[in-house]
Parts: sequence; C-alpha cells; structure tokens
Amino acid sequence: MRKKIVAGNWKMNLTFEEGQKLTSEIVNMLKDENIKDVIAVLNPPFVHLYPVKKLIGDTPNLFLGSQNCSDKASGAYTGETSAAMLASFGATYVIIGHSERREYFKESNQLLTEKTKQALANGLTPIFCCGEPLEIREAETHEAYVKQQLTESLFDFSPEEMSKIVIAYEPIWAIGTGRTASSDQAQEMHAALRSHLASKFGKELADNISILYGGSANPGNAKDLFSKPDVDGGLIGGASLKSRDFVEIVKSF
Ligand code: PEP
Repeated sequence: MRKKIVAGNWKMNLTFEEGQKLTSEIVNMLKDENIKDVIAVLNPPFVHLYPVKKLIGDTPNLFLGSQNCSDKASGAYTGETSAAMLASFGATYVIIGHSERREYFKESNQLLTEKTKQALANGLTPIFCCGEPLEIREAETHEAYVKQQLTESLFDFSPEEMSKIVIAYEPIWAIGTGRTASSDQAQEMHAALRSHLASKFGKELADNISILYGGSANPGNAKDLFSKPDVDGGLIGGASLKSRDFVEIVKSF
C-alpha cells in the first residue's frame, strides 16, 4: 500500500518566531485530530530544521523534511548543506528538483540524480519534483516532457532505490498562481507517470510509489484532488504557511 503524504514547503518564508508559532499550532492541531493514515511533513528552510524538529518531538505522523540538499557528500562547498547533516538533525524527507530550483538555480536532471543519490545514501526519502511550464502544456507535449524528467534523473536507479522515492507532480503554471490543475488533469498525469515507472521498474513497484500533486492546492480543492486514484497526497506551498489550512489539507483524505 502506498503512503498518503501531505508535505508543506515553506520556501524562503518565516522568521524564527513565525516558524515556531506555525509549527506549535500544527503540532497541537494534529495531536487533537489524531490523524492515522496520512503522513504530514514540514519542509522549512535549513535554519529552522533544529528548532522545528524539537517542537515536532514525537507527534504521531508528523515528520521533518528539507527543501534541498547538496549533490556532494561533504567538503569545500561553501554555503551548501549535505544530506548527512539533514539526517543528523532529524530530517527524514528532502524535496529535490523543485521547479524554482530548476529555474533559478539551473539545476539539471543530471544534478538531481546526484542529489537523489545523496538523499538515499543518508536514509532520507527524496520528494522528487517534476512538472511542465505553461508553453509545454499548451503545446500538449506535457506528458512526454515530464516523463523525460523522470527518465533522465531516476531511471538509472535500482528498483530498491526507486521504491524509496516519492514523486511530486507540480505543473509550473499552477505553482503559486492560484490556478490549480483540475483533479482530472492531475489524475491523467499521475496515471501516465505511474505507467511510465511501471514500464521501467514493473507494475508492482510503480503501484507502491506515492505520487503527490503540487500547485495551488488548498483546503477548498484538496478533497477533490485526493479523491483521484493516482493522487496520493500533496506538496503544499502557500497554504502550508497557515496552520489551519495545512491541517485541513492533511484531513482531506
Ligand atoms: C510548491 O511550491 O511546491 C507549491 C505547490 O506552491 P503553491 O502551493 O503555493 O502553489
């Protein structure tokens, strides 16, 4: 059975106090809700990891993740943060290949393979992002485009490695725009990606991979998105900065 996951991506937002307040609120609400079959993940900026982890404590089903990691193990790479460091601070997830990193930091499919290797080598679950820009969607070549992202970054992994990776489909035109993909558009792409994974790694493995949707998901549309058979949760940007909204999305399964 694949996992249902709702992961919040804080991006470069929130001061120390704001991050503490948000985390405390989420921890308290989730304790009250007693969520059983959904995994919630907070992915704050690096500097928040340690204090956020302390607040999460042993909250059931709430985990710590990061928004990025280095493609290198250690050494003279000023400003970088390794997967080993993240693991040592209690992170268990790491977002890899978010479209903002692909665009603004020129992260290539090959670099993302190296980052994914580092994550796996350190016991982190990569949340591997993929998704097409608007012009590719309008040209109706989006399926081929996103499949190629997976092929180029992930298809040299062993089945055992692949089975540990979570995919997040995030159409770039839907991120932070308020323009969500419809649940049918999400389902169509998720099913296509699952069958692409099956063509390389087999149906059983593909059926067990969680594929999350990201792009202007909110408490008003999460239920509809999560009702689709191949949508296994969400990667949530803006709405993860509001405790009530984030917890409502976690409760939307
Ligand atoms: C994201 O940044 O991963 C994201 C999905 O953002 P938003 O929910 O704000 O569109």
